[in-house]
Amino acid sequence: MANDNDTFKKIIAHAKEYGFVFPSSEIYDGLSAVYDYGQNGVALKNNIREYWWKSMVQLHDNIVGIDAAIFMHPTTWKASGHVDAFNDPLIDNKDSKKRYRADVLVEDYVAKIEAKIEKEITKAAKRFGDQFDQAQFVATNPRVIAYQEKADSILKRLGQSLEKEDLDDVKALIEELEIACPESGSRNWTEVKQFNLMFGTKLGASAATAMDLYLRPETAQGIFVNFLNVQKTGRMKLPFGIAQTGKAFRNEIIARQFIFRMREFEQMEMQFFIPPGSQKEWHQHWKKTRLNWHLSLGIPAENYRFHDHEKLAHYADAACDIEFKFPFGFKELEGIHSRTDFDLSNHEKYAGKKLKYFDPDRNESYTPYVLETSIGLDRMFLAVFSHAFTEETLEDGNTRTVLKLPAVLAPTKVAVLPLVKKDGLPEQARQLVDMLKWDMATVYDEKDAVGRRYRRQDALGTPFCITVDHQSLEDQTVTLRDRDSMEQQRVSMAEIPALLAAKVNPKQWLLKR
Ligand code: ATP
Repeated sequence: MANDNDTFKKIIAHAKEYGFVFPSSEIYDGLSAVYDYGQNGVALKNNIREYWWKSMVQLHDNIVGIDAAIFMHPTTWKASGHVDAFNDPLIDNKDSKKRYRADVLVEDYVAKIEAKIEKEITKAAKRFGDQFDQAQFVATNPRVIAYQEKADSILKRLGQSLEKEDLDDVKALIEELEIACPESGSRNWTEVKQFNLMFGTKLGASAATAMDLYLRPETAQGIFVNFLNVQKTGRMKLPFGIAQTGKAFRNEIIARQFIFRMREFEQMEMQFFIPPGSQKEWHQHWKKTRLNWHLSLGIPAENYRFHDHEKLAHYADAACDIEFKFPFGFKELEGIHSRTDFDLSNHEKYAGKKLKYFDPDRNESYTPYVLETSIGLDRMFLAVFSHAFTEETLEDGNTRTVLKLPAVLAPTKVAVLPLVKKDGLPEQARQLVDMLKWDMATVYDEKDAVGRRYRRQDALGTPFCITVDHQSLEDQTVTLRDRDSMEQQRVSMAEIPALLAAKVNPKQWLLKR
């Protein structure tokens, strides 16, 4: 049986082979942690972005969108705290000369303990069969309890040391746990040091007058500096939100795990402005709303979990991640943060401009609090792509690779295939393509035997194939094949547009939750 690492390698290879994701500047041997999206990848990415935008902006009458520039006045990053506090704790292994994030080394150690718990659960489930009560087992089995206590206490200590910036204790923890360099197996570590993640650049031609800038490490600040512009011009009343999608840049040290952690990536963020004191309530609200958005895509709930933070970022008074079960374990997919009035009041201070809201109901001015939802578009891509990747053994013993993408996100919704390349079938098929392509991404394919064409569309994640055969010319019916069940049904051509629209329209999906 393939292990998770093998599966992940296959997923990366599949993404490349089928035009989803390529290493950046590959002809020059690539650039580490930077990737390009190919012809199918861009369509999947656009569809995810649109699905998010629809649910967040179009369906909320109190949320509007903006598109702020990547370059921002450099003082922005002083005010936001990124110049002083956007650091990762790094540690070097003296033998392998490899650099790691100290917190990630510890978290990976904990993930191994969690894997042991999972193993115990799987074993017990097999032993007890239908009688198995997982909650009870986890609460009472001494081995599981001991593992869990160990994992919790390590994470707690890590959280506390990072919070206090006690980097010596982070190192002490790594030594106590006897964590070795994954590359060399050596435990010969340097001290832990902080490293700023922002990319610097310069604006202007001459060295003397050039201004030092940063590439934005998050899209959120473009929203905060425009808070009053939007509130005034849109006559927005609290509570209201501003959403934005766009590129962010971080000089990540551990650049691995494909598009999970990139140096240039895209975020989909929404800042929700609320009266102070209501942040707990809104935090719950957005946790639930965002989880429901994920579940609306039909990926089973056991692939998601909430993780409340012990260690809070410099701006937050509460933070929760939605974690997803990636091929390499549960990891953060989206953050839901209660950012207080940290950002707005700091911009007020640094810019010397008022950023207050006049509340007509309370008849007073105040700095709003903020609840943020922030998800990485590329991480979301990896989540749906890796979950969709399936290798099946069919009843006839053959295998097929199929991307079971939610139809609403699939790059191509339908492929139209003439059974043979003659007798007027291509013309009839092209007519169908011309009719469908206005409403959904449609492709025409006449190359190879029809069985091979089905397999190719399966591998691309196309949820439907339509085959035009000789009978089609006589009675205007075609064969509609479903990607996942591989079932085929004969339907009238006239019914096709409505039938497919019902399966791929975002409304049908978003209404599920
Ligand atoms: P991590 O702990 O994984 O580094 P983070 O807590 O720094 O992530 P946030 O600053 O909360 O991440 O950013 C919000 C979202 O942006 C994350 O949930 C993630 O989906 C995405 N994201 C952050 N960094 C990257 C990256 N380097 N590559 C791809 N996506 C990223």
